[in-house]
Amino acid sequence: MNVMYDNFLRVVKVLYIIIYARLSKEEKDKQSEEEQSKSIQHQFEICREYIEEEQKEYPNCKFIIIEELYDDGISGTTFDRADFNKLVKLVENKQNNKSINKNLYSNETVNYMVITKDLSRLGRDHVETDNYIEKWFPEHNVRYVSILESVDTYDTDNVSNDIAPIINWSNDQFAKTTSKKIRKEFKNKMKLGKWMGGEPPLGYQQNPKDKYHFIIEPVGAEIVKRIFKLALEEKTPEEISNILIADKVPIPSIIKGKKRNLNTDLKDLWSADTIRDILRNKMYLGHMVQGKTTKLNYKSKKIIYLPEEDWIVVENMHEPIIKESDFKSVQLLIKSNKNTTTNTHDYLLKGMIKCKECHHAIGIQHFNKRNNNYTVCSYYRKYGSKKEVCTAHRFHYEELEKLVIKSIKKECMQFVDSTNFADKLKDKEQSKQLLIDLKLNIDKSNRKIFKIEKQIDTIYEDKLNDVIDDEQYKRMVKNKQDDIIFEKKKLEQYQKDLEAIAAKKIIEPNYNKIVKDFLAMKKPNKIIIGKLIDKIELSEDGTIDIHYKVQNPYKKI
Ligand SMILES: [Zn+2]
Repeated sequence: MNVMYDNFLRVVKVLYIIIYARLSKEEKDKQSEEEQSKSIQHQFEICREYIEEEQKEYPNCKFIIIEELYDDGISGTTFDRADFNKLVKLVENKQNNKSINKNLYSNETVNYMVITKDLSRLGRDHVETDNYIEKWFPEHNVRYVSILESVDTYDTDNVSNDIAPIINWSNDQFAKTTSKKIRKEFKNKMKLGKWMGGEPPLGYQQNPKDKYHFIIEPVGAEIVKRIFKLALEEKTPEEISNILIADKVPIPSIIKGKKRNLNTDLKDLWSADTIRDILRNKMYLGHMVQGKTTKLNYKSKKIIYLPEEDWIVVENMHEPIIKESDFKSVQLLIKSNKNTTTNTHDYLLKGMIKCKECHHAIGIQHFNKRNNNYTVCSYYRKYGSKKEVCTAHRFHYEELEKLVIKSIKKECMQFVDSTNFADKLKDKEQSKQLLIDLKLNIDKSNRKIFKIEKQIDTIYEDKLNDVIDDEQYKRMVKNKQDDIIFEKKKLEQYQKDLEAIAAKKIIEPNYNKIVKDFLAMKKPNKIIIGKLIDKIELSEDGTIDIHYKVQNPYKKI
């Protein structure tokens, strides 16, 4: 989109719009009456949406739709159409069109815009159509837009020179509008059911005559059919992937002849996720499904996944591979799959459990049949035992949860029991004071020990000088040594406190409160557990390692 055009819409105050739609004779013969009116309405809708977007982009210009015209069942090869003639008259008389001028913006130049869904709506005869686009519209200072082909007669040098001085827009502004335009064009094409993606899904290929359109790719289509057939036989995605692996069926990227640079040897394996994606893909019904993701803005690379209701779906754009009835049955089967993880359960520890062996997440699987929940290493689940990437890590989830909660409770109780010290760490000021106190106490203890040792020396001298007898001597030294042991124990504790403060492990002022809140709860929730612990590591041998956010310095091992 060129800058000149862009600026033009910033100076034009009002744009009167004529939407023009057309249904050809062939289309009319083919379609039912209902479909015909739908098709005309559809063309209008696409144009209206385009105008709405333009309005948002150029808020200073008023976009006013003055006419919605259509010719029904008339061939595009002739321009002698009733409503098209009306369009011509409107444009030719636009300066005299008093009703519009008077009513609204009488002082403004009248600028017209004609918009069609695609070029063929305007006409199928190239010479005539080109004549309109290249001569007639520009001569009448009419902006003509064809949405599908992104034709815009203002996007040329025909634009009045009056606006040349305001070309100087910052590059950023230009990039922004350009990216918006491109995105808008993309979206419009998607809304017309044109494929705007890269590689088509397995079973389809781009039509060499029309890259926006799919035709069937026979090898892939057979695999897709087989996957659906297996699913209809109530095989789970996991089972299907195992069958395909066992039969050495090549994966989609290999069928498409792409070489991917994966550094593992897992690249040529089917995964249950791939199968699940195929089984859920409505493209196989002949529908074009696009616009599943969006970007925050033109600068951002971040991709946002949109909810399904926001996807752009245009039905019946290509030959289906799967019958609708089969597709529907499969959807029900996937939902109730015996061995499939469902998202309906929110487990207390979900997302916190990690595999001790391979460090991937441990998932939780629900088995409807037994109404049981089991843990499973997600890495193992993805690739199965085929490549021995990891082991199952299968444990009763409820048992695990019970054990974990019990263990956290025990830990918390120990923490509370021993937190006379930690209790004092309510804020940083206090911990600073505590640090000073600790150092003083350590000095004191050291001096005391030194003093007692001196006393022991004196007692020994007394014994040598026969001031005390052997019995007295032993008893006195024993007392003094006990004093030293007591002092040394104190010293040891002070050292530990000191280390704890240095490691900032117990300075978290809220931790006491969190611990107490947790203990006061009848049923702990996800939030408080998340505050208490970092992760839970689960080993294949059933060992559970709970990693706390804060370490209890008094923990008895
Ligand atoms: Zn693992």
